[in-house]
Amino acid sequence: MLNKSYSYGRQYIDDDDINEVIKILHSDWLTQGPIIKQFENSLCKKFGAQYTSVVSSGTAALHLTGLALNWNESDVVITSPITFAASANCILYSNAIPDFADIDPLTYTIDPNKLEEKIKSYNKINRKVKAVIAVDYAGHPCDWQALKSIKDKYGIQLVNDNCHSLGAEYKGDATYAVKYADAVIQSYHPVKHITTGEGGAVLTNNKEFDEKIKILRTHGISNNDSLMGKNEGPWYYEMMFLGFNYRITDFQCALGLNQLKKLDSFLLKRRRIAEFYNHELDECENILLPSSKPEIKHAYHLYPVQINFDQTKYSRKEFFGLMLKRNIKLQVHYIPVHLHPYYRKNFGFKPGDFPEAEKFYSREISLPIYFSLEDEDLNYIVKNMKEFLS
Ligand SMILES: *Cc1c(COP(=O)(O)O)cnc(C)c1O
Repeated sequence: MLNKSYSYGRQYIDDDDINEVIKILHSDWLTQGPIIKQFENSLCKKFGAQYTSVVSSGTAALHLTGLALNWNESDVVITSPITFAASANCILYSNAIPDFADIDPLTYTIDPNKLEEKIKSYNKINRKVKAVIAVDYAGHPCDWQALKSIKDKYGIQLVNDNCHSLGAEYKGDATYAVKYADAVIQSYHPVKHITTGEGGAVLTNNKEFDEKIKILRTHGISNNDSLMGKNEGPWYYEMMFLGFNYRITDFQCALGLNQLKKLDSFLLKRRRIAEFYNHELDECENILLPSSKPEIKHAYHLYPVQINFDQTKYSRKEFFGLMLKRNIKLQVHYIPVHLHPYYRKNFGFKPGDFPEAEKFYSREISLPIYFSLEDEDLNYIVKNMKEFLS
């Protein structure tokens, strides 16, 4: 036990995964080959999307989404303050104006009422909110019905940052994401549900939007006859937009394809671990466990607890240190994005702007949750938590 160490998340790679990658390394195509399309087709099937474009990271997927949705410097784009910086940074890549709407203290996702207030306050000063990036934080889907009503009422674009929520269900549907949002963003970083090392995807039911993403991920260049103004010969291509090289390799996609087959068993295990924590930590004072609204099924990318450190013997910093000495490396998700120096300095955000998010941040800790954790590991983690929190 002592030489084992724990973090909040990590990948699970088996021999089968390794063999699939080796096969591609021996093949003709390391990149831009047939496995890309195969992985995209499997993602379409799994998540009920008509189109998927795999790219080099979740952040690249967010960047291209903003470009393909034509965000520009006069557009306001709103996201949640409780997310990874990348969800908001993509607004800045398009030179659009970033803003936030506070979270719902029960689900830790964007509060539709706060969002609507914000949209109205912009409308009053004749500014239009162009898009909302809603994050299915920790694996708990947002209130998508309410977000869709806001989309229809105010004519805004809706993006689902789905990086935490592969396999989550909303109203009994694991393919909800593309049904409500114009674009759905996934990441395959090793801490996420499935991995390709680095990697990500944009899923959508909009054909034109997908075509644009596919051109933008490869320099803005296409050789598709139906898109080019002319065709001078077999060598010919046209650059139509200023794109990027955001391609992912075939050997990464071979890994992703094989990982995707295991997603259901990964999810089962994550839900089992969450049940274990729910059961074991329920009687602890000063801990608020994550809850699920009745209409959702949680995907548990994270298991976020809130601890009232005003009432405990140790501060959060001390608690982190004590747990680290026992080889348990906890993490906090997230420092509210608006409080980062870059956002404060350039956009004037300040403490107090989003009180629910800030209160959540002051109490949040993410416990280890990943496929290879066994009962003895979980017992060890819970035993140490109880010791330091009692
Ligand atoms: C991981 C993550 C991203 C970024 O994905 P990368 O693949 O690491 O670029 C964006 N948003 C959220 C909510 C994430 O968790």
